[in-house]
Amino acid sequence: MSRAVVALGANLGDRGSTLRAAAAAIVALPGVRPVASSREVESVAVTLDGPDTTKPRYRNAVVVVDTDLEPQELLDALHGIEDTHGRTREVRWGDRTLDLDLVAYDDLSLDTVTLTVPHPRAGERAFVLAPWHDADPDAVLPGVGPVADLLERVGDDTERVDEPRLFDEPTRASRPETSDS
Ligand code: ADP
Ligand code: MG
Repeated sequence: MSRAVVALGANLGDRGSTLRAAAAAIVALPGVRPVASSREVESVAVTLDGPDTTKPRYRNAVVVVDTDLEPQELLDALHGIEDTHGRTREVRWGDRTLDLDLVAYDDLSLDTVTLTVPHPRAGERAFVLAPWHDADPDAVLPGVGPVADLLERVGDDTERVDEPRLFDEPTRASRPETSDS
């Protein structure tokens, strides 16, 4: 069993409903179970040309799960959930109904054509770090450092949305530890 961190983002459609539906779909995957989730944050869209205030704003959140799926299997399943929500892929970093990124998978460091873990930009993005810290205040970005420190460094320019966490967390008080098996 491995512990995985997934970042969710949306800037088109009913963003909050999409994020909640996506979180439910993630933890409903065979071989995946919920550990913790964040509340939502909102922030300005970032495109390849930088922040763009003319674009619809993003909602972002993070879910932490335990999984038996291998990293690429999990990413494939995440892409399937994106597709269910009408995701198209015309423009890298373009507007989207749903983006699901695999931020971290245990302490694994992996770099293939289709998957880089930890996600290379996670440590610079307040819209990933802030909800990740919200879901798990003790989180560490593998090979980099505590999420709390990274968030302090980049500065939290996100706005907290006044909505509940993406899913109820039966294990929040006593999260199972990752085993090495
Ligand atoms: P972006 O999220 O950068 O806007 P996409 O969601 O369209 O772009 O993803 C582009 C590609 O990034 C995907 O096809 C996927 O194979 C690759 N990728 C590499 N590492 C990761 C990761 N850790 N999480 C999600 N996608 C990744
Ligand atoms: Mg993506």
